[in-house]
Amino acid sequence: MSEMASGVVPEQRSSDDGGKVIPFELPCAGCGYDLQQQPVKGRCPECGRPVREALAQDRLIFAPRSWWRKMRTGLWIVIILPVWMVGGGFLWGILRRAMVVRTVAGPAHGMDRDLMRWIEAGMFILLVALPALAALLAMIFLTAPRRGPRWGPWLDPVALLGRLGGLTLVVLMALVFAGQVLHFRFAWLNGEVPAFLSLAAPVALIVAYVCIQRRLALLLGRPGLAQWAAVNIAAVVLLVGLLMLESREIFAASPSGQRSAALGVALGLTALFLAVSTFTLSILCLIHIRGGYRVARNMMNHTQIIAALRAAAAAST
Ligand SMILES: [Zn+2]
Repeated sequence: MSEMASGVVPEQRSSDDGGKVIPFELPCAGCGYDLQQQPVKGRCPECGRPVREALAQDRLIFAPRSWWRKMRTGLWIVIILPVWMVGGGFLWGILRRAMVVRTVAGPAHGMDRDLMRWIEAGMFILLVALPALAALLAMIFLTAPRRGPRWGPWLDPVALLGRLGGLTLVVLMALVFAGQVLHFRFAWLNGEVPAFLSLAAPVALIVAYVCIQRRLALLLGRPGLAQWAAVNIAAVVLLVGLLMLESREIFAASPSGQRSAALGVALGLTALFLAVSTFTLSILCLIHIRGGYRVARNMMNHTQIIAALRAAAAAST
């Protein structure tokens, strides 16, 4: 409180001649330059943007604390998700191999088949259903604050479509899983739906994941990161195309050895690029959001001074 008062007193004295200065760290709205000690009516020494624009109410640094908490939670989901899926995928591969070796080595016992079914159901939950739910949660958390004109319409149609699609996917997966465990089948859930889900769900998950990152980068005001995310979306499209090519070769049952190997290498390289690229992007987003939150927390301690500075800026126009 005393810090606040001492910040106000010298400004009031010099308010007549328009000498109010920014008494704390405040990044420029254009280039991020620290505007501390710059006059409110002046311009940024780096990019020439008016200082008063840095005080605009709809900037993310003035977003409420609850919003920053939600962003951080969403971002942690986005970072843990690929680690979870890659780690789980490895575990699944090892388990499956062990089960196949066991079935081939000895006579196939009913118990083994039951065990296999349970492991498959469990892996389905761990590797597809839970990540899909987590991606859905991240999409809900990583939204623009609902205040001010520049934060955009809160009912973003693309986000709404993504959430509805994600929810449908999660419900379908839950139904398939329930059918598998409880030994019942819905007529319309037979055959094709589980097969479709096993391909569509991971692809939808990756697309949702990269779209979330793109939106996050745009929210943080980092167009470069958003462009990087757009490149990742293109990589997803390539990955899907390669997957479809490969599955067509598999279903045609006439694999020309060389072409299949080339496809496999291309598929592996694309997947590797996607994994490394999206993970790095998440870490960079985390660094930016940490920096943003630090500035925002500082702003929360200076609300009275900020109100006075805004009034001064408004009076000068
Ligand atoms: Zn600037």
